[in-house]
Amino acid sequence: MSEIKAAIFDIGATLVTGPPVAPNKVIAGLVSGVAAADIASVIMTTQLTCADGVCRAIESRFGSIDQDAKAGISQLWQSQSSAAMEITGATEAVLALKRNGLRIGLLSDIWNPYYDSVTKALPRVIEAADAITLSYETGSRKPNPNNFISALDDLGVKPSEAVMIGDTYSHDILPALEVGMKAVWVLARPGREVESIIDILNGNAPAPTATVNNIVDVPSLHLWTSKS
Ligand SMILES: [Mg+2]
Repeated sequence: MSEIKAAIFDIGATLVTGPPVAPNKVIAGLVSGVAAADIASVIMTTQLTCADGVCRAIESRFGSIDQDAKAGISQLWQSQSSAAMEITGATEAVLALKRNGLRIGLLSDIWNPYYDSVTKALPRVIEAADAITLSYETGSRKPNPNNFISALDDLGVKPSEAVMIGDTYSHDILPALEVGMKAVWVLARPGREVESIIDILNGNAPAPTATVNNIVDVPSLHLWTSKS
């Protein structure tokens, strides 16, 4: 096993919590006839600077939207810009690994206004990060390996020298294992992960390197010091 040199963190539900309904679902409720997944494929992979920009991006892909939908999107943009809240202990967990000499990456499927609120909720994490890989900048989303590979390149480490830390098996853990990284599953929302848990227990999906139920438990894991 290689020495671990980098820790790459997912953001949503790993380091911060936000509103219970994802923004793409809110927009899908405002724009008739367009699925939430299709909205996500636009808003998470496009640089957007304002609610008008969101409306233009959606209209150019799905056709014109009405004034009520535009007003709703404007309201959503506002609320998302201050919605992220730190999960207790998340900043300290990241900084503890940084103090131990690890390079820190952030790797998130996210859209602009929510990332703005993350920078307000986690200023010291953003400052500590050596590489930040965001879907709206790269145009690529998990579980596509592109962003994982790009984060590893930015950090200057091999896959075997890096650990992905995230809450979603299909988007954080499995793709990380598949590119040769290690992976720590923060199983903060087990109810959403039942299918993956069953697949792992039945031997139909690879197990994470380690599993914790809270981000605060990550720095004390043995994998950071193991050299065998
Ligand atoms: Mg997440």
